[in-house]
Amino acid sequence: MNRRYIVGLWLLVGWLAGCTTVPKISVTSLEQENILKDICLRFHVDWQWDSLAQVITLSFHDHRAALLVGSDVVLIDKEKIVLSAPIQSVNSVMMVPADFRSKVIDRLVYQPKLAIASVPTLLKIVVIDAGHGGKDPGAIGKTGVQEKQINLDIARRVKSILAQHQVKVIMTRDKDEFISLQDRTEIASRSKADLFVSIHANASSARSLFGLEVYCSKELDYTDRHEEQRLLNRREMKDRLAIWPNDPYADDIIFDLLDANKWGTCDPFADQVAESMSDYLKTKNLGGKRARFFVLRNTLIPAILVEVGFLTNPKEERLLKTSHYRQKIAYGLVKSILMYGKQQYE
Ligand SMILES: [Zn+2]
Repeated sequence: MNRRYIVGLWLLVGWLAGCTTVPKISVTSLEQENILKDICLRFHVDWQWDSLAQVITLSFHDHRAALLVGSDVVLIDKEKIVLSAPIQSVNSVMMVPADFRSKVIDRLVYQPKLAIASVPTLLKIVVIDAGHGGKDPGAIGKTGVQEKQINLDIARRVKSILAQHQVKVIMTRDKDEFISLQDRTEIASRSKADLFVSIHANASSARSLFGLEVYCSKELDYTDRHEEQRLLNRREMKDRLAIWPNDPYADDIIFDLLDANKWGTCDPFADQVAESMSDYLKTKNLGGKRARFFVLRNTLIPAILVEVGFLTNPKEERLLKTSHYRQKIAYGLVKSILMYGKQQYE
């Protein structure tokens, strides 16, 4: 247990024993990192307190931990963890021992599997596109954090969580390198992926603007459909599919069907992702939107682009710099992707 915590508690017990009036002790005199509420805030763990039962329930995504005040036992999902000291209430401030973070928070936050694991899915391969990279940093926050770093970190987390659910991920980039928009769509066309998800962080001249938005492609007009890159991607896709009739009319029909499938699924999917992720991240839902972004209009498979938050907003920049918030974004996104796979299955 933390020595300053023990000393603080002893001083408090001694002082209370010698006084007739209960003094107001300052929480700041105690070790900040032992205050449960502060720890929860820092790691984005939700907290609920049942004062009657003296039970605190912590939740992170689909996982729960139950804590009993005065007890050193914590239940994480169904696993029993024993702490080095009991959880105590000091002037209504919940205090936890020093091993609480490693034994409880780390287990809660880094539980690898989502409850959705058993959901059947037709999703086998997903292209995850970390926006920008190399000479193109993307948006830059006031503290110097670069969008390309945030995007890649989240993309890697998404890949690792999806791998645990037997969904293969093809990354358009897995290091800090420049990949053109053309190449990103070609990677998708050469693969046998079912879905393309591009990850970005937002920027605005209005620093107060924050929240999450998800884009899908606007419906294409004649010029869009005959864009050079799109025709090239069609050839790429045709080449990698062995069974394809050698008939230009059949080509048009198959690509029309692919387009119809794309527009039919992307629109509601973008709305769903925006709603479910913003709810999970407790941020503002700026909605599902339609745009003519290159990677959206030139991919032949369903494609969305997620703007995870604004690097120009001081609070969101601070959040995006923490690994726990990025992990939470990854969890939220994977959950939406798996749900999409489930809907294709039904
Ligand atoms: Zn971007």
